[in-house]
Amino acid sequence: MTIPVDQVNEYHAHVYFEPHTRPVAEQLREQLGERFEVRLGRWKEGPVGPHTRAMYQVAFEPEHFDRVVRWLMLNRQGLDVLVHAETGLGHAGDHTTRALWLGNPLPIKVEYLQQIDRDYGLPEAIDQAVNNGC
Ligand SMILES: [Zn+2]
Repeated sequence: MTIPVDQVNEYHAHVYFEPHTRPVAEQLREQLGERFEVRLGRWKEGPVGPHTRAMYQVAFEPEHFDRVVRWLMLNRQGLDVLVHAETGLGHAGDHTTRALWLGNPLPIKVEYLQQIDRDYGLPEAIDQAVNNGC
């Protein structure tokens, strides 16, 4: 089955960091906010939801994919970044098969996302996904 690109509602870039790379992540976040129309998520200082390392989320509209991802590719300063589609077809697939990595891929807790997909439509599942920075 082919998925049309219009299926993507928005994209997320999850920028991962460790205590010693947090200052680099801060600088990157500031630059992203200044240069692009993005929504910056809260700092998550440790593993949360499907994410196995501290990170923050950067959300952007499909029309900004080209510029944001090209810029991140050049300026991520060694940080690992997960870029994934938000298609509405399932969180598990969006974070794995409909995703790309800049830098080194990190483990993703797929079973956590599968649980959210099973509970899809339940308000608490949606709240959980949002609060945990999916
Ligand atoms: Zn996400």
